[in-house]
Amino acid sequence: MLFSARIFRRLVFISQWEGSELSTAFGIDVGGSGIKGAKVDLNTGLLMTERMRIPTPKPATLESVAEVIQTILSQSNWTGPVGCTIPGVVQQGVVHRATNLGPGWEGANAAQELQNQLQVPIQLINDADAAGLAEMQYGSGQNYRERGIVLMLTFGTGIGSAIFVDGRILPNTELGEIELNGHIAETKAAARLLDEQLITKKKWTKRVQDYLTYVENLFSPDLIIFGGGISSSSKDFLPQLETRAELVAAQLQNTAGIVGAAGLVGPAA
Ligand code: BGC
Repeated sequence: MLFSARIFRRLVFISQWEGSELSTAFGIDVGGSGIKGAKVDLNTGLLMTERMRIPTPKPATLESVAEVIQTILSQSNWTGPVGCTIPGVVQQGVVHRATNLGPGWEGANAAQELQNQLQVPIQLINDADAAGLAEMQYGSGQNYRERGIVLMLTFGTGIGSAIFVDGRILPNTELGEIELNGHIAETKAAARLLDEQLITKKKWTKRVQDYLTYVENLFSPDLIIFGGGISSSSKDFLPQLETRAELVAAQLQNTAGIVGAAGLVGPAA
């Protein structure tokens, strides 16, 4: 399935047309360390309820993740359709390469299985793709909705990526997997290494610089959006990073995944 900023705009248009009541949707962002969810106003991209966060169960199987999602939905009194991110490749609801989750995801039709367990319609999308769609619609990518190449990168447990060409996304790009200086890039430059104090800020910034230079040489984006939880402290390191492209922090910060997921399903009927 291909998603685009245009589909997002259409959903927002429909919701405005049908009345503000219908602009609410629910997004869940499944990450390697936390599962987050909230109701989202699709007219503005703002959360309508406090962002709920529950630690990702260990092991993060389909069943244990479904239980956490169930808790979030019932505490939010939400019974409508749900958009949900996965930190892995998602193709027509089937998940691949979700290395930051537990066993049982590879090749599973997770959309179908979660839907069976939760008894609500559910759509899945890669987490960085969701964050990118949200930034293009409501955040730092708005000036590039119609033209240009945008590279969204999320630094967290892994490194996620999304590429937009003239507002249209190429999904599941997995640029955290590229090899850099003999290592898989995300094993050396994910923000997790900083959070877990496995590396100094100076060393991490240097690795991120090498990574940005490499991906920039591959894709020559016009804009790079620096996202993930770490984007909230971007002023500490963004000025030290150099790119040919315009480099900006994600505006929606750690809500981008939730907002992007919610936009996927649109307003509840
Ligand atoms: C996964 C990606 C994901 C990224 C950020 C990587 O380990 O392979 O699919 O987007 O982490 O969560």
